[in-house]
Amino acid sequence: MIQLDMYSSFAIGGTASLLGLIGMSVTRVEHTRMQHALTLFRWAFLFMATTWLAILAPADRARLVFQAVLGCVAMGMVLLGWGTRQMHGKRTPPWLGWGLTSVIGMGLWLSAWGTSESIYATVLFGVLSLVSVAILVDQAWTMYRGAKVSYGEWAFLALIAISAVDGLIGLIYSAIEPGPPPEHWIRVPAWWELVSVILHALFPLAAAGSVLAIVNERLALQLRTRALSDELTGALSRRGLRELGERLIHHARSRSQQVAVLMLDVDHFKKINATYGHLVGDDVLRHVVYVMQERLRDDALLARYGGEEFAVLLPIRHPQEAAVVAERLKNAVEHKPAQTLAGLIEVTISVGGAFLPSDVSLEQALATADARLYDAKNQGRNCIVIDGVPQPAPAPSSAPEIAHT
Ligand code: GH3
Ligand code: MG
Ligand code: MG
Repeated sequence: MIQLDMYSSFAIGGTASLLGLIGMSVTRVEHTRMQHALTLFRWAFLFMATTWLAILAPADRARLVFQAVLGCVAMGMVLLGWGTRQMHGKRTPPWLGWGLTSVIGMGLWLSAWGTSESIYATVLFGVLSLVSVAILVDQAWTMYRGAKVSYGEWAFLALIAISAVDGLIGLIYSAIEPGPPPEHWIRVPAWWELVSVILHALFPLAAAGSVLAIVNERLALQLRTRALSDELTGALSRRGLRELGERLIHHARSRSQQVAVLMLDVDHFKKINATYGHLVGDDVLRHVVYVMQERLRDDALLARYGGEEFAVLLPIRHPQEAAVVAERLKNAVEHKPAQTLAGLIEVTISVGGAFLPSDVSLEQALATADARLYDAKNQGRNCIVIDGVPQPAPAPSSAPEIAHT
């Protein structure tokens, strides 16, 4: 019979982490958001490999260095959670992500000073359980809100759920039977030991597998949507909006969610074309799409509806959410000038919005949103008018200004 003890499981897990690191390094994607996610995963696997392999080190190692290295696993978990958020298009400010990673790393390093091994082990497993539960809740919520759940996402969710259970069992066991941890540091009751051994051997491999499956599914989706995309900006074409829009509406209604549509038009775009020429105008359009896409959740659709007019379709839980998203897009475009061949060009957009209750078709809602966009233009541009949602005082008119670098 094959004997698998905790040390063998760490040897397998450590090697698998290094393989995961290699896998994440050789995977090439064009999408900037996915590139960021892969960078976070590389760090996550590097930290996990460090911990798994450190446990195999000889017993006479320097205790504090050793304990701090064990804390790397918590940093790896935070980065894994952050990476999957990033892949789903949920924004985590870098200061928060790296801040949390370093605070946890430093906190565990500091808690190694002047504490006994048993207290340090409890703190470590407490932090790990907390991080796992946070990732579990975040991932489950994202999947619940998402348009379509992939196998990779289910696999990742299951893996995090098992590791959260493992952490909590370890934590409760330490509370019931306090004492120094064994040489391999994993203190769990005898009846859970086999699961724990297998989990520690397979976690990095399963994490790498599910993360790469999610990346793969996203790339396949991108390929499919590219066929329905506008060539200049990469946003969906009108046909794409119709096809994917019907699916989004059906899916949202089956979950009792509402759907909102926004029409967005670049202000005084003719002036930009006239001043700088069409090629620079094209740059501005690509920039506007890039900025908006970065600010939209993964379950929203962005399409180029006409020359410099765009449509956004989003599932929402409350009408006010449409106003929040519209405001976010308008502000993002306003505060991020376009980098073009002719230097920096400031751009603003006007937004009209409408909703799609079950008796309203996509075409009808687009027409209403377009009428509200017309109202926004009449109110002086760089502002938002949403059907049935009270508006704050209109913003003063602002023509695009040109700021050269
Ligand atoms: P308003 O604030 O009222 O929206 O003013 P506007 O100047 O943006 O108004 P209008 O919608 O009349 O102008 C749109 C211009 O967009 C006209 C057209 O020449 C230009 N356009 C349409 N498609 C493209 C494109 O693919 N590239 C470029 N560079 N310009 C385009
Ligand atoms: Mg315009
Ligand atoms: Mg227009």
